[in-house]
Amino acid sequence: MTEAARIAVIPGDGIGVEVTEATLHLCDLALARVGLPALSRDVIAAGAAYFRETGQDIQPDGETRAGQGEAIFLGAIGLPSVRHKDGTEISPHLRLRDLFGLYAGVRPVKAYPNAPQRLADPRAASLDLVILRESTEGLFYSAAVHGRAEVFGDDAVHDIMRITRPTTEKLHWFGFRLAEKRKARGGKGQLTCVDKSNVFTSQAFFRKIYDEIAPEFPKVTKGYAYIDAMALDLVRKPWEADVLVMENIFGDILSDLAGGLVGGMGMAACGEYGDDHALFQPAHGSAPDITGQDAANPLAAVLSGAMMLDYIADRRAEEAFADAAALIEAAVQAGFEANDLRPMEFGGDMGCRAMVSALETHLAEVSP
Ligand code: ATP
Repeated sequence: MTEAARIAVIPGDGIGVEVTEATLHLCDLALARVGLPALSRDVIAAGAAYFRETGQDIQPDGETRAGQGEAIFLGAIGLPSVRHKDGTEISPHLRLRDLFGLYAGVRPVKAYPNAPQRLADPRAASLDLVILRESTEGLFYSAAVHGRAEVFGDDAVHDIMRITRPTTEKLHWFGFRLAEKRKARGGKGQLTCVDKSNVFTSQAFFRKIYDEIAPEFPKVTKGYAYIDAMALDLVRKPWEADVLVMENIFGDILSDLAGGLVGGMGMAACGEYGDDHALFQPAHGSAPDITGQDAANPLAAVLSGAMMLDYIADRRAEEAFADAAALIEAAVQAGFEANDLRPMEFGGDMGCRAMVSALETHLAEVSP
């Protein structure tokens, strides 16, 4: 019998706790359907609430334990009322990215039937793209480890835009492979390098490395866009995009924009991949404004859970985990098609619990 997948779980703050519980429950149901045991969980306390209680942002052995699982699942971290003295957020998550080298942040953006389309053009119904956000350096380099920013008294602060060859090479390889994989599944197979290479030396370097790797992938369509023009095009014609690769802060901003195109942050799934570790989380925050009201949309987390099962399938070379992931994706698709998923986030009548119960029903019926 297959051994249960061991994952580290950081529910975190606010709605992170609710959507994590929903996700792991649905993952277990999907695993059971393909004859696999439920996930074995090591739950780690971390986040802003934990910091308020203890002065630490993660349990003393939390980082080590997070690295021991086959994957990490994180709900959400941060509370506006709990900050460092300089006003920045409590963020062990940024440190985990740094520690485990989780350079490739994959943020799929897909339109579902009956979910809100914020654009009137009918082509918005076919939206299916991925923001590939470098997640360890760029303009977040200084933020990953508190104190990395250079502070000159009360006169100036330097945050650093760091682009390194090893990370950028890995990122572009990852992007080209992802575009190739999507092409094999009937997608466009296109990787667009999104940067500001006309202004910043670091960004020109980012594009140069893209150009060096591009010839290795003759079947992938190449493209370039400046970040500002890309923001415009994501509103004007996002259906033309496939995989968009970019530096950390650009990806942070554009993934929120893209999440908005298909409804809201409650649809924004995310997987962060390194060489030996990966972390899965909804791209939204802890949403303190709706915490404890059973109002959260769990889909971003649930779809991140499916990405996690897919990753475990690759890591173990056990296809059944990918079948369980496909079941979750099919249940979400079927749920929207039947108009059975109507999250409050979109003005619907379903809170987190009702959404989970509708997904349970579809999960029992769909085939991968
Ligand atoms: P962070 O900086 O950690 O990304 P944030 O301050 O940008 O967080 P979020 O916590 O993501 O903000 O919330 C932004 C808005 O989106 C809030 O109004 C919140 O209620 C809403 N929101 C976020 N996630 C969800 C969700 N899963 N379901 C419903 N609404 C959500």
